[in-house]
Amino acid sequence: MDRNDEQPSVLLIDDSVEILRLLQVRLRSEDVNLITATTGMEGIRIAAERKPALILLDLDMPVMDGFETLRALKEDSRTVNIPVIVISGSDDTVDKVAGFEFGAIDYVCKPFNLPELRARMRSALRIQQLMSMLEHRAQIDGLTGLWNRAYFDRRLEEEIASHMRTGRPFTLVLCDLDNFKSLNDTHGHPAGDAVLQGFAKQLTATLRKQDIACRYGGEEFALILRETHAEQAHALIERIRETLESTRWPRHPERAITASFGVCDEPNGDSSVPACWLETADKALYEAKKRGRNRIVVAGDPLPGNEVPLSKAG
Ligand code: GH3
Ligand code: MG
Ligand code: MG
Repeated sequence: MDRNDEQPSVLLIDDSVEILRLLQVRLRSEDVNLITATTGMEGIRIAAERKPALILLDLDMPVMDGFETLRALKEDSRTVNIPVIVISGSDDTVDKVAGFEFGAIDYVCKPFNLPELRARMRSALRIQQLMSMLEHRAQIDGLTGLWNRAYFDRRLEEEIASHMRTGRPFTLVLCDLDNFKSLNDTHGHPAGDAVLQGFAKQLTATLRKQDIACRYGGEEFALILRETHAEQAHALIERIRETLESTRWPRHPERAITASFGVCDEPNGDSSVPACWLETADKALYEAKKRGRNRIVVAGDPLPGNEVPLSKAG
């Protein structure tokens, strides 16, 4: 079982108890954590729960055979990217081709040669590591190292779904650096880049582990503050706002940088629709800009000197 989190887990799905025992013994010296399942159904369930780094799958199993199991694994978004090495008693080309077409990364015939199986497993694990590194990189903004917008959009959808299901609160924050064009125009693009990077570091340092910070576009950032109402969010963002404002930048020590923030923990319109959350936060951000920048506006809070809440002001 998962004794050691640093070791990759390998799930072996095979109805033969002899094979399970043999591999358990013979793979002991490998740097892997072997999990076993004796039916396709059990294997699919364990794969979805434990997300092993690799699956070794027997083709010839009763009830649900290897091909059906493989198809189910490749149709489930939780398991689609786990590499599968098919282990089969048949060295028929038709079966081999079908295995690859169903999405297997490799095909090994029984009785297998253990050193060869081990070499193939290592090779599949290396490919899997590269794939997950690429997947991770595809979600990261190159300049700031924060999450990118595609990742953020997905996480926002998930957070909203969980909010609708459980009622757990969260707060969405949109943030836009003030007068950034003029900073670029006066001090050059590299100075602007340095500010974007510095601000990203400040966000990461101030936010909690469960929060999500993303570069939403140009000089705009978006935050998901989990398990947080707007009131608590306000205190956290105020720290971020003050830290930025008081930072002295080496390239332009005389020029302070500020940001405006729009905050939303309950959108106008349908709470299950991401666009409603984004629109509400964006309106609050627009209001923060309008009121003079370098400030936080919470959607729904009364306007200064005016009792009409922002959410009803349209
Ligand atoms: P406001 O206070 O109303 O937000 O004014 P602003 O100047 O910040 O807004 P505007 O949308 O006019 O300008 C945004 C600027 O951000 C223009 C663009 O060149 C700059 N920008 C966007 N992405 C980057 C980037 O990656 N690096 C740098 N240095 N500048 C960027
Ligand atoms: Mg902008
Ligand atoms: Mg701006």
